[in-house]
Amino acid sequence: MKKCLIVGGGLAGLSAAVFLASKNIQVHLIEASPKFGGRAYSFLDDKSGDEIDNGQHLLLGCYYETIKFIKLLGAEDQFYFQKRLEINFVDQHKKEFHLKAIKLPYPFGLLAGLLSYRALSLLDKIKIKTLISTLLFTDSNKYSDVSVLDWLKKNGQNERSIKAFWEVIGVGALNSHLKDASAKMFIDILKVIFLKGSDASAMIIPKVGLSKAFVEPALNFLQSSKNELSHSEKLLEISIAQNKAIAVGTDKGIINDFDAIIFAIPSYAISKIIEKKPIPSPSQREGYNDSPFGGKEGGLDLSTSSILTLHLWLKENKMKKPFYALLNSPIHWVFNHGNYITTVTSSADEFIEKSQEELFSIVSEELQKYLDIKKEDISDYKIIKEKRATFIPNKENLLKRPSVKTNLENVFLAGDWTNTGLPATIEGAIKSGVTAAEEVQKYFSTW
Ligand SMILES: Cc1cc2nc3c(=O)[nH]c(=O)nc-3n(C[C@H](O)[C@H](O)[C@H](O)COP(=O)(O)OP(=O)(O)OC[C@H]3O[C@@H](n4cnc5c(N)ncnc54)[C@H](O)[C@@H]3O)c2cc1C
Repeated sequence: MKKCLIVGGGLAGLSAAVFLASKNIQVHLIEASPKFGGRAYSFLDDKSGDEIDNGQHLLLGCYYETIKFIKLLGAEDQFYFQKRLEINFVDQHKKEFHLKAIKLPYPFGLLAGLLSYRALSLLDKIKIKTLISTLLFTDSNKYSDVSVLDWLKKNGQNERSIKAFWEVIGVGALNSHLKDASAKMFIDILKVIFLKGSDASAMIIPKVGLSKAFVEPALNFLQSSKNELSHSEKLLEISIAQNKAIAVGTDKGIINDFDAIIFAIPSYAISKIIEKKPIPSPSQREGYNDSPFGGKEGGLDLSTSSILTLHLWLKENKMKKPFYALLNSPIHWVFNHGNYITTVTSSADEFIEKSQEELFSIVSEELQKYLDIKKEDISDYKIIKEKRATFIPNKENLLKRPSVKTNLENVFLAGDWTNTGLPATIEGAIKSGVTAAEEVQKYFSTW
């Protein structure tokens, strides 16, 4: 039986492993950290006993590969699927605005929903609709060099429509300020969200912690005597002969019983993998070359931006809706988990170095302003800073994204940063994992 080694147990590695296992290909998955899930995991908060995420994750109906993956794992029950897009917005005067796609044939439902969104003037709405209707004929490749902000302004969008509509989509989906991200990536995602049917823009929210929603079902799927799962094992080096990987060295030993490898590790980690000649052994520390993936000189390292999450426990939770988008606030979203609430700040580089006390103070002031949650109503909080949350989809990074195939015959790449055509998202990660697994399958079928 042919065997694939998969390095990295985030959603890209897990989906590649599940896809291959479903095709009866043996997998050996190694993960450097003590837990699987990568940047999408949950853990038990000691004090409250609640299962909390490293960061709230929001999915969309256009996450087609993710939905297939969830179904393959039998994990649909772990997610809440909106029927049509529905978002509650709130401004700094606690005024609420509702954006809800209406039950009408697509795309009229979404457009009619936009008409009832009172944070915008009628003219703003007409301009937004005009821009959406030109998307079909817009070639995104012409806009790699243009920032999202400039593209929106050139297309007649004013400050209000940018703040109350486009930023909510753009900063959330791209985890970047609109001035930094390339309009190409934004146009591509708008086409999927607005032109692919009413389901595409509806939101999907995990009902349970991310590890319960994704990781445990995936590990259960892989539980079988023929697959091997190893955590706390870091890959360090690779040996190559005749244009093929023949062995790898980890901090636990050497692995050479594989026919192909998928590297599903982040871009900053791939450039640290070095080529060892001859076959590596821990006692031999000479003969290292640069990364075989072009890491040191070719520069596969993509610049990243951060996400800031605060989980806050309230003495009494009076929040009425499952989640809110905050207009003109450093907090972009607040999610209601019953026992606790979670705030999300995307593209959070200006906040990430601040102290816990400073961050709590900023967030609690915003919560008071927007949702009437007072500092004294908060009984406890936990701050999670993900400094390298996602790559910035600017022109330089988009050019660096590698394809799934490498120069080595039996080595493939996966991960949200590879050339999926999508921003760094769960869907990008899972799509990349499935694509890499399909390439491995094709490679095996040529023998
Ligand atoms: C706070 C936060 C919020 C987010 N919100 C959303 C959201 O709302 N919606 C959305 O779609 N996406 C969101 N994302 C993005 C999403 O989480 C990622 O795109 C996705 O999880 C990336 O998966 P991956 O498998 O490509 O990479 P990773 O999850 O980074 O997995 C790579 C794995 O490789 C391991 N590894 C690294 N080096 C080695 C080595 N040498 N040997 C062995 N293993 C190694 C790492 O430990 C890691 O587990 C968010 C991300 C963060 C951080």
